[in-house]
Amino acid sequence: MSKQELLDRLYELDRQNRHWAHISALLQWDQETYLPPAGVEDRAEQVALLEGRLHEGQTNPELGRTLEALGSTSENPWGDESLTPVNRDLLRVLRKSYDRATRLPAELVAQAAKAEALSQAAWVRARKQNDFSLFAPHLQTMIDFAKQKARLWGFEELPYNGLLDLHESGMTVDTIDRVFTPLRRELTALTKKIAARSPVDRSFLDCEYPVDRQDRFGQDLMKTLGFEVQRGRLDLSAHPFTTTLGTDDIRITTRYFPKNILSGLFSIIHETGHALYEMGFPPELRGTSLADGASMGIHESQSRLWENVIGRSLPFWEGLFPRLQELFSEPLKGITAQDFYRGVNAVKPSLIRVDADEVTYSLHIILRYELEKRLFSGDLSVDALPREWNALMVELLGLESETDADGVLQDVHWSMGAFGYFPSYALGNLYGLQIWEALKNDVPDIDDHIQTGRFDVPLGWLRDRVHRLGARLLPLELIETVTGKAPDSRAFLDYLTKKYSPLYDL
Ligand code: ZN
Repeated sequence: MSKQELLDRLYELDRQNRHWAHISALLQWDQETYLPPAGVEDRAEQVALLEGRLHEGQTNPELGRTLEALGSTSENPWGDESLTPVNRDLLRVLRKSYDRATRLPAELVAQAAKAEALSQAAWVRARKQNDFSLFAPHLQTMIDFAKQKARLWGFEELPYNGLLDLHESGMTVDTIDRVFTPLRRELTALTKKIAARSPVDRSFLDCEYPVDRQDRFGQDLMKTLGFEVQRGRLDLSAHPFTTTLGTDDIRITTRYFPKNILSGLFSIIHETGHALYEMGFPPELRGTSLADGASMGIHESQSRLWENVIGRSLPFWEGLFPRLQELFSEPLKGITAQDFYRGVNAVKPSLIRVDADEVTYSLHIILRYELEKRLFSGDLSVDALPREWNALMVELLGLESETDADGVLQDVHWSMGAFGYFPSYALGNLYGLQIWEALKNDVPDIDDHIQTGRFDVPLGWLRDRVHRLGARLLPLELIETVTGKAPDSRAFLDYLTKKYSPLYDL
């Protein structure tokens, strides 16, 4: 086969695998949105069948042979130097996923999947009964499986690095330690300072906000931000998420609570941020594995940038508040854009990660990261985990956990064996502010554009500088290319200080 024929075949195999993944995602999207309750059992079998088919595609020996014929090996994933840069980037991505998929024996994958189902069921029971001991042996099993997998992927010495690498390709404990150490110190100090001030008045947020009007506002807002309704849609689900079902089919979900307008509103902005990234990959990457986010952290940088940096800013609400007030004239009577801005930025340390505000959120992540690191290095036993969790909660957030259900058992991630996943959330905050700093450098009057509803200005910049790259660069490379700096916490900390000092009179 000629080089061109090999490339054509590689693109074809990649395209097929993406179709299988999207078909499976469609069934899962349906399960979270419209599936009648009794349909769950068949659906689980259907999804498992498709995932099996996808795995076959990912481990297809022909894929391995084609990669090799184009010069792509584990040592030199980019392959032949005569290939175009885009082709070489695609080879790198496909080689990595092929190696990941083929290095795990089928038996190990099946055993781990079985253990995961049991572990999740045990976690649900343990959380309900507030009894960590019911979950402890399963957690140990999940840790053991994760270690085994990481070792097979080539991370013999520090298996935890292999798990970080899964979500944030190229990320290591050393890099995260360097970034998180100042972050931890400054955030605990800032949180303490804010907690000592009087809380802002947000009582107008505890009123009744009719759900149909929330939906009207949300649907308009996502379009205003740049969501293309010809290429996606918004639906309802218990937990908001974004999923891609095809190049021109990107779905987001939200949920509405009559007495909590912020939950639905900010999930729509957050998920729209994810969707704008997915809608922004350039035509030349269409239908390939390069039309994807660079990493989970980079994806989260986009959603949090729209949700927090833009969506919780004063110019944003100076522009949009009149429309909101028109729809909710009762609860927002006598409230100004400035009042609303203060209300949506209230800081209150809480025991629960998903309820955390912009200032304290990353501390919840640092807590989990430090515990995961110690669990994997053997420094911390599973039995001692609840005690250490509670001690860190006091140290970082100044809060005493009353129950394990609201403490160490609050997140589903560990029960699914998703270790090394949490850091990406905090990295997303940091990446987002580094990217925002670069944007502000190029567009100094960005606040005016936001105030006047010209969201095409920040979106255009992000398209041009970030989205255009798709998955061509590793996350660390992308941040360096876009911002000229390695990942660090300074831009994020500067932003918080500048924003919250006047809000809390610090
Ligand atoms: Zn997100």
